[in-house]
Amino acid sequence: MSKFLDVLAHIFLPNRCMFCKHPVEYDKLICEGCRKDAPLTDLSKCLICGKSECHCQNYFRYLFTPFYYEMGADTAIRELKFNNNIQNAKNLAICMVNCIKATPVAKTVDIIVPAPLYKDDLKKRGFNQAYQLGLEVSKLIEKPICKDVLIKIKKTKKQHDLFASERYKNVEGAFGIENKNAIIGKTILLIDDVFTTGSTMNCCAKTLLEAGAKEIICLVAAKTRYIVN
Ligand SMILES: [Zn+2]
Ligand SMILES: [Zn+2]
Repeated sequence: MSKFLDVLAHIFLPNRCMFCKHPVEYDKLICEGCRKDAPLTDLSKCLICGKSECHCQNYFRYLFTPFYYEMGADTAIRELKFNNNIQNAKNLAICMVNCIKATPVAKTVDIIVPAPLYKDDLKKRGFNQAYQLGLEVSKLIEKPICKDVLIKIKKTKKQHDLFASERYKNVEGAFGIENKNAIIGKTILLIDDVFTTGSTMNCCAKTLLEAGAKEIICLVAAKTRYIVN
């Protein structure tokens, strides 16, 4: 029945490719052309160092992401971030969940926590794109999202404007915990839109672990292919 409704809805409001906006079949997210060129990540290797035998030291245990931040995936994320394109949040979340659903990790997740924005930034933008992604992931994997647990307590400079070496210092001490009881002993799926150097995710993960979380798994919509320095 719901498939019938999907088809019916599609006749009146066709799905569009998340990357190039051409109409696609009702059950597709990306058109054939874009699918061919989709900047997919290689999940058999560490996404940070590029090695299969990874010795990266991070506060999070794993990082998963479907796309590199380029070729359409970047546009789709920018549309979500700056135009509040909720359909993109839904589509990106499906791709994100596809990365983890076949792994044993997915079953260990207790709660979902989005990377927070500072309150003034949230007011200015009106919504948090990490929360929108987390909300859609939460519906798909049927795990609760905890919105006001990890909070940003310090205004920071835009990570984008800084050298990689300055980024961790910029976000150090920028996060706090509002409700410790919600995370103690929990395996947390930490969600953000883009992973660049990992400073934000590491800082969030460290804050959560220090407050008593058991383990942190990062899931983001895209990752830059190379560390910008
Ligand atoms: Zn396309
Ligand atoms: Zn590594």
